[in-house]
Amino acid sequence: MSSYCRELHREGADEYDLIFFYTIVVTLCWGVATVRIIDSHTHTYLRGPEDLDLMAVAGIEGAVVCSYLPVQPSGASTLKDLFNWQIGVESMRLSSYHIDCRVAVGIHPRSIPTNEIELVYDRLIAIFDNETATAMGEIGLEVGSKEEIDVFVQQLRIAKDYARPIIVHTPKNNKAAVFEKALAILKEEDVDGSKVIIDHLTPDLVPRAREFGALAGLTIRPGGASPGDVEAIISKCGPEGVVLGSDIGDSPSDPLALPRTVRQLMRSLSARDVELIVYSNIRALMWF
Ligand SMILES: [Zn+2]
Repeated sequence: MSSYCRELHREGADEYDLIFFYTIVVTLCWGVATVRIIDSHTHTYLRGPEDLDLMAVAGIEGAVVCSYLPVQPSGASTLKDLFNWQIGVESMRLSSYHIDCRVAVGIHPRSIPTNEIELVYDRLIAIFDNETATAMGEIGLEVGSKEEIDVFVQQLRIAKDYARPIIVHTPKNNKAAVFEKALAILKEEDVDGSKVIIDHLTPDLVPRAREFGALAGLTIRPGGASPGDVEAIISKCGPEGVVLGSDIGDSPSDPLALPRTVRQLMRSLSARDVELIVYSNIRALMWF
């Protein structure tokens, strides 16, 4: 029993004080203990230890770490080293903060190497052969050029061969048109929608992704979805098939995006619905 609690009993505090005290304790424990959080889309290797500490203290227990580099790689070795960094170093760094990690590897459409792309495909195949990464990602289209489409298709075929989950990027500009192009390619390649997250969506595209059977990813960051957007879409369409991510990396983003969103959503949504979108839906796809 805490000293405050003992004092309440010793001084014969009235019943209402005790009820008030225990209500506060239960409310705090309920808020912390009932909603578990996995950040479904991060590039934590581009952030410092202070951010990982914040995430751990805020109760984030898992994170998906996706491939992306803010420079165009000059050859295969740059991407091979990125994959090694994610698999061999970053997952250990996260686990030292008690954050469980799943790694997604792939060639981001803004990180297509100028040379030796076949060697990168070979490395991806070797990684999935050895089962050292969980998923393919993030891959997809930025402007929808022929080169991007070719790289996207090659990677979809590798992911399909190994029955891996796939994280599909959608761009900031011209999002709806590029989304439709990526969706058409996923269908042409006969990709199983239930293994796909189509990410960085605007709320209006959530139903389109779900019609395909994919998880709809919403990114909580400046210029992305807001907690209010999430609340509106969940109230309208329900929590099934929706996942939230912070996309923390080199661009403006918030390591506490998900805990802050949870706090806001708990005012209007049930704990079950909130936990589906920040924990259970992503866990079902990536933690196997
Ligand atoms: Zn990303």
